[in-house]
Amino acid sequence: MAKCDYCRGSIWFGGEREGNLRFCSRDCRQNGLLALSAQVPEDQMRRIVDDVYRGECPKCRGPGPVDLQTHYTVWSALVMTSYATRTQIACHGCGQKSRALSSVGALFLGWWGIPWGLIMTPVQIIRNIHGLMSAKPTDRPSASLESALRKAVAADLLRQDAEAARVGAPAGNAPIVS
Ligand SMILES: [Zn+2]
Ligand SMILES: [Zn+2]
Repeated sequence: MAKCDYCRGSIWFGGEREGNLRFCSRDCRQNGLLALSAQVPEDQMRRIVDDVYRGECPKCRGPGPVDLQTHYTVWSALVMTSYATRTQIACHGCGQKSRALSSVGALFLGWWGIPWGLIMTPVQIIRNIHGLMSAKPTDRPSASLESALRKAVAADLLRQDAEAARVGAPAGNAPIVS
């Protein structure tokens, strides 16, 4: 039985992979990556965060500041409704555009599921509108951008480890349970 590399619980079915590591759930994967990212030196992490924040927007190539942008989606088909909180690393303008598009998408595609479509469509639209009205270009990288980049850096380290193991070099996979 495979064990989760974060909580050490048994993985009965599926689970999530990252490099050579396996996790029982999405939460454990996120927490595991965050724990692993603590090994990245602070000044190196700061540099990565600053580079992304001050760099050009990866979506529109426009000038930043670039930060973590959140929007909310929902669509339904008969008895099933799918809704999600989505994040992307982009500029404020791209973030606003995604929030507006997701609101319009929800308006057309959200309702058609009973009962969750009827419940979640207004919820997601209100969340987007709230974001549209309250989101501002940030004057420094947000904590959520930093934690998203930390996880990305950790995932990258794991991929490099997996790659190294595949070509026969000793893998430096430290256990990440504290
Ligand atoms: Zn777990
Ligand atoms: Zn942009």
